[in-house]
Amino acid sequence: MRLHHLGTWMAVAAATALALGSTGCVVEDEPAGDLGLDEADGLQIEDDPDPGYLAAPSCPPRIHRYPLVNAYNNGYDASWNTFTCTGHLGNSDFIAGQHLGNDIFAPRGTPVVVAKAGRVINAGYTSIGGNRVSIVDECGWVTYYAHLDSIASGMVVGAQVPTGALVGTLGDTGSAQGTAPHLHFSVYPEGNYNGGVDPFPLLKKYLPTACGSTYRSHMNGKCIDVPSANFVAGQRVKMWDCNGSGAQRWRRVGNVHRTGGDMVGGLCMDVAGGNPANLTPIQLWHCNGATPQAFQYVNKELRSVLAPGKCVDIAGWNSANGAELILWPCTGAANQRWDYINPI
Ligand SMILES: [Zn+2]
Repeated sequence: MRLHHLGTWMAVAAATALALGSTGCVVEDEPAGDLGLDEADGLQIEDDPDPGYLAAPSCPPRIHRYPLVNAYNNGYDASWNTFTCTGHLGNSDFIAGQHLGNDIFAPRGTPVVVAKAGRVINAGYTSIGGNRVSIVDECGWVTYYAHLDSIASGMVVGAQVPTGALVGTLGDTGSAQGTAPHLHFSVYPEGNYNGGVDPFPLLKKYLPTACGSTYRSHMNGKCIDVPSANFVAGQRVKMWDCNGSGAQRWRRVGNVHRTGGDMVGGLCMDVAGGNPANLTPIQLWHCNGATPQAFQYVNKELRSVLAPGKCVDIAGWNSANGAELILWPCTGAANQRWDYINPI
């Protein structure tokens, strides 16, 4: 027996009678050809080299970014195949004792990236996980990425990999073969897959920020950042070392620059208080289409529509993390020039 979603898109499944499992969740008969117990989706890790139970993790589980780049659907429900950048369709399909992770659906080939920096402990093919990668962080929590179409060259056992590094591309390998391409994502204590936690509360914070590209400074290679991923109106926008996180991803819609991929509502880059004076901070504000939120991206500059001739500027040529962004007359200098690029 298998969770409903793993067979739903198969024609045979349409005719499969639904039944209620012991948890009360709707399940259906296993689709023909399925391999049965699944490293990703069941309770066994048949070939995982983890040595078994290790010391309990030394901190709560955490991630630092969403593991996909570009549109996705997190968890299974009736809208599983509607891919967006907003997260508003996101949910958890974690079921304790049955499905120890979240399935994240997206087009085949979508880049999968490291959600939490750490050391690669597994990388390669298994009959169940397919192409899969496991990374353990400094606290002993493993992030696990299964059913990949391909594994990136940087994912070799023993390598230390940063948050945002390319893990591979999304696919349907292993026991997911022939199903809708998805990433199976788990978070568990090293050596104890069955002790995994529902990753959805961790993923949720980053759901709206999977899409978009970074603004990388010509002055110092740093990126325009929402400090501490604090997505609230009034938050000052600052500079930080580029890390590919959702807090550094912006989606351009005309002259408007939205946080992450949030296309519905959300927060936009904004001239604080609508004040066109020099030194006015750049902040986040509820997207409203007004001129303080309009910046033309021309010649690598972000030119204010509210204050013609003024640009988004790194105040005082300050190279430190946390340097502020302000409005200042356009000069064409490196502290006002940005590459708009995907971090991958
Ligand atoms: Zn799964």
